[in-house]
Amino acid sequence: MKKTVVILSISIFLFLSCKENKNADKKSTTTIDSTMNTNPLLVQWDSPFGVPPFDKIKSEDYLPAFNEAVRLHKKEIAIIVNSKDKATFKNTIEALATSGKMLNRFTNVFFAVSAANTDDVLKETRKSISPELTAHFDEISLNTKLFNRIKAVYKQKKTLGLSAEEMRLLTEMYKEYVRAGVNLEGKDKERLKAINKRVSELSTTFGDNLLEETNAFELHITDKKDLGNLSASLIAGAAEEAKKRGHDIGWSFTLQRPSINPFLQSSPNRDFREKLFQGYALRGDNNNENDNKAVLLEIANLRIEKAKMLGFDTHADYILSDAMAEKPKVVYDFMDKLWPFALNMAKSERKALVDMMKKGGVEGEFRGSDWRYYVAKVREERYNFNEDETRPYFEFTAVREGVFMLSKKLFGLTFKELKDVPKWHEDQQVFEVLEADGKHLGVIYMDFFTRESKRGGAWMNALRQQSNVDEFVTPIVTNNFNFPPPTKETPSLLSFSEAQTLFHEFGHALHGLFSNVKYRSLAGTNVPRDFVEFPSQVMENWMSEPEVLALYAKHYQTGEVIPKAMIDKMNRANSFNEGFRTVEYMAAAYLDMNWHTLKAPDAEINVREFEKDFLKKMGLIDEILPRYRSTYFSHIFSGGYSSGYYSYLWSEVLDADTFSEFKKTGNIFDPELSKKYRKMLSSGGSKSGMELYKEFIGRSPEITPLLKKKGFE
Ligand SMILES: [Zn+2]
Repeated sequence: MKKTVVILSISIFLFLSCKENKNADKKSTTTIDSTMNTNPLLVQWDSPFGVPPFDKIKSEDYLPAFNEAVRLHKKEIAIIVNSKDKATFKNTIEALATSGKMLNRFTNVFFAVSAANTDDVLKETRKSISPELTAHFDEISLNTKLFNRIKAVYKQKKTLGLSAEEMRLLTEMYKEYVRAGVNLEGKDKERLKAINKRVSELSTTFGDNLLEETNAFELHITDKKDLGNLSASLIAGAAEEAKKRGHDIGWSFTLQRPSINPFLQSSPNRDFREKLFQGYALRGDNNNENDNKAVLLEIANLRIEKAKMLGFDTHADYILSDAMAEKPKVVYDFMDKLWPFALNMAKSERKALVDMMKKGGVEGEFRGSDWRYYVAKVREERYNFNEDETRPYFEFTAVREGVFMLSKKLFGLTFKELKDVPKWHEDQQVFEVLEADGKHLGVIYMDFFTRESKRGGAWMNALRQQSNVDEFVTPIVTNNFNFPPPTKETPSLLSFSEAQTLFHEFGHALHGLFSNVKYRSLAGTNVPRDFVEFPSQVMENWMSEPEVLALYAKHYQTGEVIPKAMIDKMNRANSFNEGFRTVEYMAAAYLDMNWHTLKAPDAEINVREFEKDFLKKMGLIDEILPRYRSTYFSHIFSGGYSSGYYSYLWSEVLDADTFSEFKKTGNIFDPELSKKYRKMLSSGGSKSGMELYKEFIGRSPEITPLLKKKGFE
C-alpha cells in the first residue's frame, strides 16, 4: 500500500539487540577496536540531543562500522552465555535486551539513510550486510546455551518480583526464541534451518520472476487519441518510456501501477485496455520460465511443515499467535462481517458502470478492463470533480503547520525548528518537539521532497528509540515523503491524498515520540503489525474535519480557506467505488488467509483452480480481481506480510472506532480522551494491543463506525 511505515523488517533483530543508553558505554566490558576510533559511526556523539553526525559520516564508513558493531555484539553475547553466575533477570534478560548498542545505532542510521538518500556505495553495502545480519541474529536466536539461561529465568518468573514491563520483556523474549525454533533438536533443528534458507531463496526467486514479468511487458501506442485525457506529465513519462525502449515515436505503458492505472482510467481504446489488464493479471502465470505457481506452492507447503514442527496447526496460527487478532478464526470472523456489505456496494457500482457504458453506445460485455475507465466517467459526470482543483489549498508548509497545530490542540505539543543540526540532505527540516510545559520530548527529522536517491512512498522510522534503563533516552524519529519539490514559480502544492499522507506518517511519528517505557524493544512502534497502522490512520480522520481544515487548508495565494462545497464534492466523488476498493483489497486478504490456513502440505494443488474455487465461493464479481493474484502477491510470498494482509483493514476498525469516540464527546479535541489516547501510545509494545485498546476505550473494538465511514450502513 502507498503509505507504508518502515519499522525495518528486522523487529526480531531489534528485539534481540535492544540497548541504547549512554551508561552502557561506560560499563561495557567490550570496547571498540582502536583502529576504528576515528569512524564517526562508532565514536561518542556530542551533537545537540545526540543526533547522528550526518555531516561527518561518509558512505564508506558504514561497512567497517557494521563489521565492528557485529564483532562487539558477538562478544557481549558470549559474555552472557559463558557467565559462571546463575542466570538472573538482570544478567541474562536485561543484559540481552540492552546488548548490541553499537549495532542498533548502526542499523537505525544505516537503514534510514540508505532508504532516503542512497548512493552506489550504500547500495553495495546493503547487499553485502543483509545476509550477514540475518545470519548473525539466527546464530543468537538458535543458541541453545543462551536459551537455557532464558528458560531458567522464565521458569521462576512468578517468584522474581518483576514489574509488569519486565514480565512482558521476559515472556516476549522467551516466546520469540521458541517461535524461532530454539527448542528443536538435532535433525529437526537442521531441517528448520534448511526450510528457512529454502523459503528465503524461493522468496527471492518469486520477486525476481515478478520483476522479469513486469519489465517484459510493454504496450506501445502511436495514435494520440488512444491516450484519452491523460495528464500532460503522464504523457511525457510515457513518451520517455517509449524512447527508453527503443521507439522513435509514440508512448509506452508498463505494468507498474503509476503507469497502468491512469491508462485504464483514461484510454478510450477497449482493446488496449484489455491487453494491459490481462498483462497485469497474468504476471507469474504464463507457464514460462518466470512462472511463480510452483514457487509459491513450495513456499506455502514449507510454511505448513515449519508451523507443524513448532507446534502450530497452520502457518497462520503461527504468525497470528504474535498479532492482536491472535487466531485465524478472529480474522475470518472480522472479514466475514464486512464482506457482504462491500460486495453489495460493489454490485451497485457495477450497475452504474454498465449503464454508463451502454449510454456511451459501447456494445458487448462489460469487462474488468472497463471498470476504472467508467469509474472516471461516472465521477466526471455525477460529481464534476478533478483532484487538481484542491492543490492550491494544500501548500506543503501549510499542511506541515496543520499537523503541528493539531498536535498542539490534542496534546499541547510545540515545535521548534533546529537549523544547525547535522542532516543527511539539505532539504531536510528538523524540529525539536516540546511538551506544553516546555519540556523536551524528542526530535523529528522531516524529509519532504522526491529525489532520485530516495525510494518511493512515504514512511517513518526511528533514528533512536526511547528507553529508560539507567537513564531516560529521548526518541529521534523521521518522516519521509515523495512530495513534488517547489519550482521557481510555485511552492510545493500537495494533492488531498498527499496531505493525508503527511498526517498519516506524523501519526507514526507521534507513536515513536510519546514512547515512555523501560526497554527499547518494547518502545514506540515496536508493536504487532495489525496495531501499527492504527495510530497513523487515525490522524487522517482529523485532517479532513472542517474545524481542522480551517486551521491550515488555505489558498497559497489568497489565504482563503478551502470552500466546504469543494470538500463535499471531493468526498462524494471519492466515495464512489469504495465498494470496489474494499472488495478488491479483501479478496486478496482472504486469499492470503486461505493459502496459510492449509493444514497439510500438498504438492498436487493446482494454483489456478485453488484461486478460482475460492473466488467462486466468495461470490466475487467476475470483473473484479483480487488486488493481488497469488502469482504476483509479493506481500505474502516475497515480503513479510504472510497471514497479515488483513492488517490494514483491522487497523481501520480501530481508527474509525477511536475517532467516533472523539466525536461522541462533542469535541474532536477532547482533552480527557486525548490524554487516554496518548497514554495508550506511550505504552508502545509493553502490553498486548488488545489490552491497550481496551484500557484506552473501555471496551472491545467495535466495527460499526467503520461500516458507517465506508457507507456500508
Ligand atoms: Zn503507515
